[in-house]
Amino acid sequence: MTEPVLEVRDLHRAFGALKATDGVSLSLRRSEIHALIGPNGAGKSTLIGLIAGNLKPDAGQVLLNGRDVTQADVAARARAGLARSFQVSAVAADLTVLQNVVLAVQGARGQSFRFFRPALANADLRAAAEAHIARAGLSGRRAIPAGDLAHGERRRLELAMALALAPRVFVLDEPMAGMGPDGAREMTALLDDLRHEAPILLVEHDMDAVFALADRVSVLVSGRIIASGTVAEIRADAEVQRAYLGE
Ligand code: ADP
Ligand code: MG
Repeated sequence: MTEPVLEVRDLHRAFGALKATDGVSLSLRRSEIHALIGPNGAGKSTLIGLIAGNLKPDAGQVLLNGRDVTQADVAARARAGLARSFQVSAVAADLTVLQNVVLAVQGARGQSFRFFRPALANADLRAAAEAHIARAGLSGRRAIPAGDLAHGERRRLELAMALALAPRVFVLDEPMAGMGPDGAREMTALLDDLRHEAPILLVEHDMDAVFALADRVSVLVSGRIIASGTVAEIRADAEVQRAYLGE
């Protein structure tokens, strides 16, 4: 079996006396969607922060493609291929969808934003940006200022910008949050497509989406993974039902 793209080994992180992450190990394999579910306050966002590098663990390791990045900062992990969404601040509301994605492509190529105007006229950069926009289903919205997009469109714009980084791992914290049923269905279809680009660690409360997408589900409660398995296994797990699903 191939080496996991992302691996977390016995990660610990406390805030004062609270053990927000209490010995978590998990892995993400190629083309896989691994969903992480759990009640509010379980430690899902803390774990995402530890993986992305916003937070440092008290103990344990984070490996990207076999490389230990535990001490690497957010930017270094991004360069190593980790695309974390949704960092809304990265989207410039006054710029159009196309301009935002051109900026992302330019940034991914290590070019200074000082050259933004020439970049917009650069056919090669534009073509790359257009491809990411099409992938995210936003071609019809390319000339709209990002600030005028509907909520779900904005999330897709963030994914188009993430695609510019040629990511090797997506780490997504509640991509369906705040979406209606149509938006959630569209996002589900998009994530099902993106998993072929890079595997996805998906924190999500929308159980329809999780059950439709996930190859594996891990259940986090009080900073610990209490169960991990296929959708069928997790749905049949009595402890999980008591702790979380309420079925
Ligand atoms: P989830 O995303 O699963 O809802 P979080 O990871 O946001 O959970 O939070 C896990 C626990 O850690 C919660 O009890 C939360 O209050 C606490 N926590 C999270 N971040 C901090 C912080 N920066 N300082 C203190 N406590 C925190
Ligand atoms: Mg959270």
